Amino acid sequence: MSLSNPWFIAALVGVIGVFHLEFFATLLNLSRLGRAIPDSLVGVFSEETREKLVDYIRDSKRVSFTRDVTLLGVLVVFWWSGGFGWLQAWAEGQGRGPVVTGVFVIALVVLAQTWISLPFDAWDTFGVEARYGFNKTTPATFISDHFKSLALMAVIGLPVAGVIVWFFQTQAWPALYAWLFIAIFTLLMTWLAPRVIMPLFLKFQPMEAGELREAIFGLARKLDFPVNEVSVVDGSRRSTKGNAFFAGFGKTRRIALYDTLLKSHTTDEIVAILAHEIGHNKCRHVPVMLALSLAEMGLMLGLMGWALKSPQFFAAFGVHGTPVGMGLVLFGMIYKPLGVLTGLLGLAMSRKHEFEADAFAARAVGSHRPLTEGLKRLSRDHLAHPQPHPLTVWMHYSHPPLVERLRALESLPASS
Ligand SMILES: [Zn+2]
Repeated sequence: MSLSNPWFIAALVGVIGVFHLEFFATLLNLSRLGRAIPDSLVGVFSEETREKLVDYIRDSKRVSFTRDVTLLGVLVVFWWSGGFGWLQAWAEGQGRGPVVTGVFVIALVVLAQTWISLPFDAWDTFGVEARYGFNKTTPATFISDHFKSLALMAVIGLPVAGVIVWFFQTQAWPALYAWLFIAIFTLLMTWLAPRVIMPLFLKFQPMEAGELREAIFGLARKLDFPVNEVSVVDGSRRSTKGNAFFAGFGKTRRIALYDTLLKSHTTDEIVAILAHEIGHNKCRHVPVMLALSLAEMGLMLGLMGWALKSPQFFAAFGVHGTPVGMGLVLFGMIYKPLGVLTGLLGLAMSRKHEFEADAFAARAVGSHRPLTEGLKRLSRDHLAHPQPHPLTVWMHYSHPPLVERLRALESLPASS
């Protein structure tokens, strides 16, 4: 661990530099909360709502900032006091092979991170979200969700980590094999998530017959988008925030709507929101995003393969030799700045897709109005920042700010 080691400098920039960049972006974003509501949003946020959202956003940021400072503090103290070297030596001392030792190290680090964050998650859920009337989660659900997530990580994450460590331990082209493996695994998860994983957390029930169900099937027929099933999901058991999503692809497509969305929106708005979701599908946004994330994964694995061969890389963290599992954990710190850059690209693409899906929805229902109204209501109900700073939008927003979406929708030529 010395300043003459370029890997050490890279890790410093990764960990401390990116933290400061995030902090700076947050400050800029918060400073914009005091601004007057822009003309196009007058009537969306009342003065009372505006005051409430300013408090809500500040309170949420306080939690995430305290969590990030704590995680950073623990990491830096652990790193600079030789914790990684000690952890590796102790894990190797258990006398298992390099693959088991590697997976063990990864599991311990992930577990430590999760448990340091847990009190902050609880503070956010039962402190902030509850104070603003969003939270519906009980402590029992919160705890059972946590253990279900840990169990899932153990059942799915540990074998995946094991295979990747094994590739890097034994193969001549480990980055390539790991990349192919992750590509196949991602496709498998897209299929598995709605069938096996989401039902562990949410209850899916078929939507009752009625006007809304008819309207949804009518829209699907009109857009030539075959739907097998429309379900309602009990999101209200955890939060009042609404959502809609699609699950599955090919012949078994099913639409799932949060019950919270059904409660707060009109049928026209829900149909327009669904038309937006169908738009993502029709415009082939999913494969484009998948290709983009796999390209990024390829870049990351390639660089990782290079780092894992360098004893200097491990020395930057006070670790002897070139243990693969520990390398996977440590590489994340080196990769952070590049991750921010590739993230900018992915998010810009995603925001472009949102505009396209909005335009698709307006054409599909013959007017931009229902979507406009639906988006306004969603923003108000979620207490979203009315005019986020561009730096925060670039770094974190997968959806364009409301003002921009409304402007784009209203300028559509065919809209009435
Ligand atoms: Zn969208």
